[in-house]
Amino acid sequence: MRISDVLRGKSGSVVTVTPDTRVDHLLGVLADHKIGAAVVSRDGSTVDGIVSERDVVRALAVRGSAVLTEPVSDISTPDVFTVAPDAALADIERLMTERRFRHVPVVVDGALQGIVSIGDVVKKRIDELESERSELAGYITGERS
Ligand code: AMP
Repeated sequence: MRISDVLRGKSGSVVTVTPDTRVDHLLGVLADHKIGAAVVSRDGSTVDGIVSERDVVRALAVRGSAVLTEPVSDISTPDVFTVAPDAALADIERLMTERRFRHVPVVVDGALQGIVSIGDVVKKRIDELESERSELAGYITGERS
């Protein structure tokens, strides 16, 4: 199973914010799109960082509500792990587990093509298990040969 298989079931657009977006605006973006992270990008294509709800919570805990008027570049992670569409899903699962992050942008030739969240990964695995289960049940009951 490849990352491209996961992307196939998703809308192509990725929610991005510019580095100078204020944190309070970012919260609105995350809430409106019902997502936990946004890619930080100057032009909507290059990946200049990633900012997740965890970054906001951490900054609020340390610096208080003053964070809300700061730019997202103050709280985002600049060094982003990205993957190519042909990366193996199993490798990304390992990466997410070991590095403890739940989002991985998908990049081709430096341009943002999609994003895979841990929710997408879990959904794909559940679909896979369900289709395996139904095939096996078919063999056992004789409905498949
Ligand atoms: P998350 O679990 O995705 O909400 O993110 C947890 C932490 O990891 C936050 O500090 C994010 O900015 C950071 N993070 C999320 N995704 C990535 C990624 N693909 N590469 C590097 N850092 C990330």
